[in-house]
Amino acid sequence: MREAVFILFVLFILFGLTALRYRKQIAAILDFGRTIREMKEGAAADIPRQRKEAAPAARELRSCAGCGKWIDTSTAIKFDQNTFYCSKECVQRSMASS
Ligand SMILES: [Zn+2]
Repeated sequence: MREAVFILFVLFILFGLTALRYRKQIAAILDFGRTIREMKEGAAADIPRQRKEAAPAARELRSCAGCGKWIDTSTAIKFDQNTFYCSKECVQRSMASS
């Protein structure tokens, strides 16, 4: 029984020395594994968030107050709450006509 304990002790020492000897490599491997895991989690977390952000802002159409063309509110020139223009030209034209 004492021999077994001694062998275990020697193995432990050897393992400790090996770990000391290769601690930089071990740290690098652990770091690499963590980076991979973070990338996976990050990628999994990013995709639904991007979809959520893109969806509501994208499709709100208003007609241009100048020419009546349907335009996306994200690209339109917003004049007030309900007045949108498709371009500067439409703004100027409606300014000039009124
Ligand atoms: Zn217009």
